[in-house]
Amino acid sequence: MLTRLKNGSLYDPAQNLDGAVRDIYFRDGVIIDPPGPDEVIGADYDIEGHIVMAGAIDIHSHIAGGNVNTARLLLPEQHRNFVARKLGHPFSTARWSTTETGYRYATMGYTTVVEPAILPVNALDAHLQMADIPIIDTAGLAILGNDDYLLRLLRGKASQSQINDYVAWTLNATRCLGLKVINAGGASAFKANVRQFGLDDTVPDYGVSSRQILETLQRAACELNIPHPVHVHCNNLGMPGNVDTALATMDAAQGLPMHLAHVQFYGYGNEGDRGFSSAAAQLIHGFQKHPNITMDVGQVLFGQTVTISGDIIAQYSRRHDASPGKWVAWEAECEGSGGIVPYRYQETSFVNSLQWLIGLELFLLADDPWRLFFTTDHPNGAPFTLYPYLFRLLMDRDYRHQCCAKLNREAVAMSLLKDLDKEFSLFEIAIMTRTAAARLLGLNDRGHLRTGAVADIAVYREQAD
Ligand SMILES: [Zn+2]
Repeated sequence: MLTRLKNGSLYDPAQNLDGAVRDIYFRDGVIIDPPGPDEVIGADYDIEGHIVMAGAIDIHSHIAGGNVNTARLLLPEQHRNFVARKLGHPFSTARWSTTETGYRYATMGYTTVVEPAILPVNALDAHLQMADIPIIDTAGLAILGNDDYLLRLLRGKASQSQINDYVAWTLNATRCLGLKVINAGGASAFKANVRQFGLDDTVPDYGVSSRQILETLQRAACELNIPHPVHVHCNNLGMPGNVDTALATMDAAQGLPMHLAHVQFYGYGNEGDRGFSSAAAQLIHGFQKHPNITMDVGQVLFGQTVTISGDIIAQYSRRHDASPGKWVAWEAECEGSGGIVPYRYQETSFVNSLQWLIGLELFLLADDPWRLFFTTDHPNGAPFTLYPYLFRLLMDRDYRHQCCAKLNREAVAMSLLKDLDKEFSLFEIAIMTRTAAARLLGLNDRGHLRTGAVADIAVYREQAD
């Protein structure tokens, strides 16, 4: 059936449309050119005054797989959606069902979501869960870098072309869009009782460094022409002073494309009375010197959530902060590990307030929606259902300042945020969540409203906030 959306205000960076009033036509799920005068319009909607964008794309959100399911099992009391809603709880975190995930994303105008951490041995399970999510399209990134097979190849001095074959086989077998590397070698080292693992540390028994693993996988991604650059979760997540790790990882990319995930968790200095400070400015300074690097933020927002990660070193180190007080650590088939630690971010906390501030500093200082992406690392920084609050924080300076007034004062005093006046426009939001996101993933059929795109179209009522 031919459908027309009439008189909407279009925000489509791919066509340089910044609020222009246009009609959109689509048929059989695809956007088409305006039809001839004799064609019958089956459904016609006048959406004058409404904001129209392509469906949004979430490049990094943990919606399926072993960690997500284990979080559901660990926290059944927070999985009772109906009860939680009745009690007026913020209806937190990852533990909602696949059904809820699809409907909640669609309600916000999201139509494509990437699960960024699929353990190859568990890929079938992850795909079955994603297939069970209604409405939205899903894709995954396959994790390599802690698997015994790769580490044995490296120990045995395998050629790059042998590594490339293994990477290509993995992507084909797991049906994933690209590669994810999580604290390269760290989870393997953890099994030898290593509890801190940096870029130049060596995995016991294998004799390869984290840097070597990362560089080899990045080279494979480039030589195989995988559209999405290698997607990196750096070493030393969450540790004071770890901005140096993030900067060293940018250098390790050697000018080749690399994506650094949830960099808020790496924007940390070790200054001040408590040895914990914002290094957002330093991180962005490095980012601006490396045009080959893209990043997503992993913004922290306040409330109950659950942290889930393949970075077993980071997860094990925060087990005593579990709230409620229970956690899981696991290892699977010599391929990788993970940990689940429930957590509540609080405005009264110095550290949590500073994390919130650092994430926003990164967005506002970078001022580059083509290279810096919108994420909360769902559910690690915040559940994806809080995205509307985060959009408002980026687009409304006064609201940002009001929120600051409720935070830990010591943290606010140390932050640059009060001096940052930048407000994101709808056009910039559309770049970050649509056009640039699709390009980063190598998906040409979405992220824009041109003829031939999938008819994933988000229509929003204009609201003051
Ligand atoms: Zn993540």
